[in-house]
Amino acid sequence: MKFDYFLKYHPTRQDGGDVMTSHNWKALTPIWTGDADRKSDRLIPTGLMGSLRWWFEVLVRGLGGKACDPTSPARCPHPDVKEPTKPGHHCVVCELFGCTGWARKFRMMVLDEHYNVIQNQINADQIFILRFIPLRPIYPEEWCLLDCTLRIIAEYGAIGGRTVLKPSDELNRQNALHHKDYGLIQYISGPENWHCEKTREDLKNYVGRQRWRNDQNREHDFSWTSFQNFWCVKGRYLARKNADESTFNQVVGRAPSKRCKDCNQVHSPRQKCPKTERHPRRYSDDNPTDPISAWLAGRQQESKKVFSFKHPQEGGRTFGFIKPDIMGFEEIKRRLQQAWPDLKDSEFLTGEEILQRLWGGTRP
Ligand SMILES: [Zn+2]
Ligand SMILES: [Zn+2]
Ligand SMILES: [Zn+2]
Repeated sequence: MKFDYFLKYHPTRQDGGDVMTSHNWKALTPIWTGDADRKSDRLIPTGLMGSLRWWFEVLVRGLGGKACDPTSPARCPHPDVKEPTKPGHHCVVCELFGCTGWARKFRMMVLDEHYNVIQNQINADQIFILRFIPLRPIYPEEWCLLDCTLRIIAEYGAIGGRTVLKPSDELNRQNALHHKDYGLIQYISGPENWHCEKTREDLKNYVGRQRWRNDQNREHDFSWTSFQNFWCVKGRYLARKNADESTFNQVVGRAPSKRCKDCNQVHSPRQKCPKTERHPRRYSDDNPTDPISAWLAGRQQESKKVFSFKHPQEGGRTFGFIKPDIMGFEEIKRRLQQAWPDLKDSEFLTGEEILQRLWGGTRP
């Protein structure tokens, strides 16, 4: 048995407001698959498997389930449950993706159009096949969740290093982040003769089953990465327009100017300021002080909460998360409307609206 997804890869970069230049566009690199089939893939922080799992976690939380963070010390298995088949050993995400003591239930192959294994990389605009081969019985609910995850990534998200999306992994790597490659993937077709027969209610019940580890009740620092807090605007992107204007910075509340605070010039990334002979201090590097912007913009070591992608043909997309105790959807919408004055209410989709579309008959 195998489940083949035909997808097309469109490389792009997250436009953090300071990144996108025509030079950067030429340098776009392929997506690396890593050793998707080898045991070592759990050690490779980026790549398809990591991205897939990350979005699967987001969806599970959005349906009311609990998901561990596989990069945190609190990851599964539960320290007190030794037997992997006992309730509470691992969370519903680890049930499919595996954890120490419980192997991943599927093998993932990355194939080209002729069903040959892609060894290293997927190139720009290449059609590729994600083939899922069950190694042990996979519940119908798990296939549906996986299918939804891929549809969500393709229609509303992006694939790339999950390290980039996750706060805990990003210690002082802001500069490295600028060079991380992302991709928009286009969903061409799903597995033949298969479709999800589960309702949203079925999946909610499945992720909420008693047997899954659910002691992650303490709010951890990324529990806001739930699909209930997700939003997306398709066909629009935020970008730096010139040295003094950046709609991205405008939305997250950073200073729009990337000029040097000491000499008022624009310095290229590695250039020192000729005046101070030190690493330049840019206006846009200052952390915002109001709590909403401080959260949205993130500190140096945190993930951004707003992701924006420009794509020459597809137009791009902008998506992100809110955190209900800090800011709601109205606030991010208000900020987006400042960047895009003609933004219509109907263009702003919440995770809940997307979930309704996924099960509302109108497949994305
Ligand atoms: Zn493309
Ligand atoms: Zn887990
Ligand atoms: Zn300077």
